[in-house]
Amino acid sequence: MTDSKLKKITVALAGNPNSGKTSVFNMLTGASHHVANYPGTTVETVQGTCTHGDFRIVFVDLPGAYGLTAFSAEELVARNFIIDEKPGVIVNVIDTSNLERNLYLTTQLIELDMPIVLAFNMSDVAAQRGIVFDTARLSELLEAPIVPTIASKTKGRIALLDAIVAVANASRKPRTHRITYGDEIENTLNQIEPLVSSEQPALAVKYGSRWIALKLIEQDSDIIAKIKDGRLIDVINNIVAKLKTIFRDDPEVIIAERRYGFISGACQESVKTTVELTHTTSDLADAVLTHRVFGLPIFLLMMYLVFYLTFSIAAYPMAWLEQFFGWLSSSLASIWPAQAGNWLRSLIIDGIIPGVGGVLVFLPNILILFLAIAILEDSGYMARAAFVMDKLMHKIGLHGKSFIPMLIGFGCSVPAIMATRILENKRNRLTTIMILPLMSCGARLTIYGLLIPAFFSQNWRGPVLWLIYLTGIVLAVIAAKVLRLTVLRGDTTDFVMELPPYRVPTFKSLSTHTWMRCLMYLKKAGTVILAFSIILWAAMNYPRVSDQSAAGLSSDQIRQTQLANSVVGRVGRAIEPVIKPLGFGWKIGTALIGATAAKELFVSQLGIIYAISSHEDSSATTLRQHLQADYSPLVGFCIMLFCLISSPCLATVAITRSETGSWRWAAFQFLSLTTLAYIVTLIVFQLGSLVLRI
Ligand code: GDP
Repeated sequence: MTDSKLKKITVALAGNPNSGKTSVFNMLTGASHHVANYPGTTVETVQGTCTHGDFRIVFVDLPGAYGLTAFSAEELVARNFIIDEKPGVIVNVIDTSNLERNLYLTTQLIELDMPIVLAFNMSDVAAQRGIVFDTARLSELLEAPIVPTIASKTKGRIALLDAIVAVANASRKPRTHRITYGDEIENTLNQIEPLVSSEQPALAVKYGSRWIALKLIEQDSDIIAKIKDGRLIDVINNIVAKLKTIFRDDPEVIIAERRYGFISGACQESVKTTVELTHTTSDLADAVLTHRVFGLPIFLLMMYLVFYLTFSIAAYPMAWLEQFFGWLSSSLASIWPAQAGNWLRSLIIDGIIPGVGGVLVFLPNILILFLAIAILEDSGYMARAAFVMDKLMHKIGLHGKSFIPMLIGFGCSVPAIMATRILENKRNRLTTIMILPLMSCGARLTIYGLLIPAFFSQNWRGPVLWLIYLTGIVLAVIAAKVLRLTVLRGDTTDFVMELPPYRVPTFKSLSTHTWMRCLMYLKKAGTVILAFSIILWAAMNYPRVSDQSAAGLSSDQIRQTQLANSVVGRVGRAIEPVIKPLGFGWKIGTALIGATAAKELFVSQLGIIYAISSHEDSSATTLRQHLQADYSPLVGFCIMLFCLISSPCLATVAITRSETGSWRWAAFQFLSLTTLAYIVTLIVFQLGSLVLRI
């Protein structure tokens, strides 16, 4: 049958994190993946297709979620996709070894009255634990076909595809069982439903009036925002307040309890365990890994390992890539003779190759980091780590898991910001992203490496470096607290931290998780960083110095004159009055602007400004001598301080923009950190000068 004759079915894949959703997706679609955005959002999704009989089935992977509330961005994305795009079938992937918890999401799909197929995944694990299902009975109660699968071994594929096609073809009948929420809430629903139908007919048609009424009782912020009618909201608020006094608890808690009640009822009828649940090795491992005393050192050790892997092992492929790009530009430079006015050559050799190279050299880093994270997540350790760190991180208004990206931030902010994806809560995630650049990254170390020996004697070098790192951490803690009290104020709805079962991660799952994240990095960061590097190249190379003024100068002096004459050089001079109170002159200003592309560029920029050839072996020493002659140790310290706190590099800005989906957050991060840097450096320089004068 030709492709055009095939009938199309769109299937959304929903499931809890770690239920094996990715494995089911891979089992169903093979290798046909592509990354796209959810309609109308910047959140990415992976899509894949397969042909089954007369059908071409398109699979959309929804974000892993425990429910469909408006509290978490992922859940809202999943919910909106289901409601707006109306997929033909939803495959709800369920970890059957943790059935009741997983069915919570199912109850919400049932509430939305969606055609579902339940993939009872991890059925091998359930069988090992002696859990036996009466699938026929459970399927009757949930009014959805159930297909047992072992996705990691590609078992159950055909049965699942058959079930999908059958559901897509079946005519929809209204459900006979529905989840009921107890007399009080049912009465209230009956009261609100007609109001919704009459006052908000469009919403009632789209979502169903019972569902809207339920969401209103749950105080769902997304739905409340959609109802612009203040009177209706007032009525609802009254009703909710009444319910609160009856239950002495939020109605949403009661609703959640009823959902669990429905699940436990259904399971009691259809699930049997043949073995008594005894203390397993998993309990023993938990006792050690989440131990009050040992938990933290074990976690730190694990993190050290991740850190080590990411930055030590990745250093080799990174160096190869750097060498490759160096080789590429030098061989291109040698076969493409430099001619006056040949801007294309310069754009490619000095702009695009380093720009694209700058993106690609991070790839080994990101690959290894995400592999390590995937291992921690898949094995079940990540949940334990979050558990251990949670109390401490809560004090600054963050989640236990925020600690992981913050640690990675000492290596590089780019993978660190991507690692915030492990945070389910949007506010936690944004706060973590905003403060991450304060963790002094590896690139800044090159700046400290130049300046500390220039200005401080041997005995002071260690303490000064320590002080810089500590300043970053202290500022990050304060900034997190301030953000959580102001711009990112609000509940972080601490999600129940369950401890999922331990598992040996499979190669297939690790490789797909890692690869998908790398793909997203390349696609998103690549384009923005490339654009930025072209703009910055132009700003550093234009306007050109004329041939006459360049005549008789050495190539280092030409580079110096060119930079001083360029937009960057001019802006550097123009901002001199602004940075004077920090103790900086135009040379530092120019180098700081040039260094926005990447922090390590600060050193090479200064080299150009002082017309020191980068080929000279002793270039660092000569540069240090120049700096010693021009600046005091206090200024040296202030430069480091400013570089630590100020605007993150362009790669960070680009990744913040793509991870938050908004330029506003990227701009906020850039501007607020630069302002903070200015204020802190100003205070330190002025106070320092005062003290030194006394
Ligand atoms: P996701 O987080 O829901 O996308 O879950 P993944 O597909 O990444 O699966 C999490 C882990 O469970 C991986 O290590 C998988 O290999 C493993 N896994 C997935 N399905 C099964 C299954 O049916 N049986 C077993 N034993 N392991 C599975």
